[in-house]
Amino acid sequence: MHEIQVHNTYSGKVEPFNPLRAGEVRMYTCGPTVYDYAHIGNFRTFVFQDILRRFLKLRGFQLTHVMNLTDVDDRIIANAAAAGVEIREYTEKYVQAFFADCRTLSVEAPEHWIRATDNIEPMVELIQRLQQNTYTYDSEGSIYYRITKFPDYGKLSKIDLAGIKAGARVDNDRYEKESARDFALWKAPKPGEHFWETAVGPGRPGWHIECSAMAMKYLGETIDIHTGGIDLAFPHHENEIAQSEAATGKKFVRYWLHAEHLLVEGEKMSKSLGNFYTLRDLFAKGYKPSALRFALASVPYRRQLNFTFDGLQQATSSVDRLRNFAARLKNEKFPTGKNETMAVRIAKAADDFDAGLSDDLNTAQALAAMFDFVREANIAMDKGEFRSSEVKTAQEFLQSFDKVFVVVEDNDAEKLKAIGFGAAETGPGDAEIEKLVAERQAARKRRDFATADRVRKELDERGIILEDTKDGNVRWKRK
Ligand SMILES: [Zn+2]
Repeated sequence: MHEIQVHNTYSGKVEPFNPLRAGEVRMYTCGPTVYDYAHIGNFRTFVFQDILRRFLKLRGFQLTHVMNLTDVDDRIIANAAAAGVEIREYTEKYVQAFFADCRTLSVEAPEHWIRATDNIEPMVELIQRLQQNTYTYDSEGSIYYRITKFPDYGKLSKIDLAGIKAGARVDNDRYEKESARDFALWKAPKPGEHFWETAVGPGRPGWHIECSAMAMKYLGETIDIHTGGIDLAFPHHENEIAQSEAATGKKFVRYWLHAEHLLVEGEKMSKSLGNFYTLRDLFAKGYKPSALRFALASVPYRRQLNFTFDGLQQATSSVDRLRNFAARLKNEKFPTGKNETMAVRIAKAADDFDAGLSDDLNTAQALAAMFDFVREANIAMDKGEFRSSEVKTAQEFLQSFDKVFVVVEDNDAEKLKAIGFGAAETGPGDAEIEKLVAERQAARKRRDFATADRVRKELDERGIILEDTKDGNVRWKRK
């Protein structure tokens, strides 16, 4: 196995990854702000962190991973007030939709899903620690963080603080790099908006304090990995560092990993351009969850991902190629014995796969390792050179591949059904195909050619091609 290396935004370098406690990884991911459905740009980041956590688990690390749901922020407060409902009621629909989307895309549940509204107390305690350490000041019922008091401010996002006016403040949760300002830790209540009565006064937390407080509550004062989209590096993550380190005097995060943006057909995704997609928009167009996951995972996380419909179509074919290969391994009869060259080839593919993911999660390299092997193994099978002894090791490689990429097992139809796309014809599953193939084989054996032809025709209409092999077996593949 190869040494795992990751790019740390804080140092700006690719570094060997060594968690604080050997064998254990404590990781925090900024989850969605649940005021709307998450879009494919959000899911680019969530699939990246899923590939990361699955790879770390495959490599034997014990993972404690926290993902939060931001269910208090400017937009939620405003939208809930406008709708005249409590914020929990307003966000619930989007929380449930997010969970369902994650399941559909095989984004594994972290060890802890947490909500900001369940963690107001640790946020208040953290603000009190910052008050004791004199990093804060009050203004009109709100509490602000004084960034000039924290000498490391700006080191994550590499901003130049030369032009910063001391005492200039910002109340918005989101703002641009050019306007680095003292930011609100606690916001005074506004008429008609939700607030909490707490030891630091009535009001509500700022977005940034939420993640600092929740990360430290569940993972301790120093955590191994913090992930998020690159747009969160400033101000959100910069502010998380300032808050956490000013309170504890300790390093907050050892490795910062950020995923790059997603473009759609070469352009920034936006509602006004009409190129804004949620998962459901794409499923409604007939694309499968596995193809979408593959497309989002296939570009290494630090490269911009240009999402295109051609690319999604290619991802669909790539997933089919893997599934057909898995079916060949399972269904075909190979000549008995051992092929030493192929045994070496499988070991090399597995090693290349590990090397790719170890190299700052280079998913393109890891996928190339698999597809090169699949191509060569298919050729060997066609020539009758693939032997029975290699079936098990090839299957084991495919299984460890799928522990990370999670696209080989065909459960698209049931996943789509679970989120209300059941009516869409997604083609028969492996088990049903194999049953029909066996039926046809039995019919041929008893020389009932009418039945055999009918089954072949039915499968053909449903997108499955049969190929009769010389030894009397049948191979099937999806069109
Ligand atoms: Zn966060």
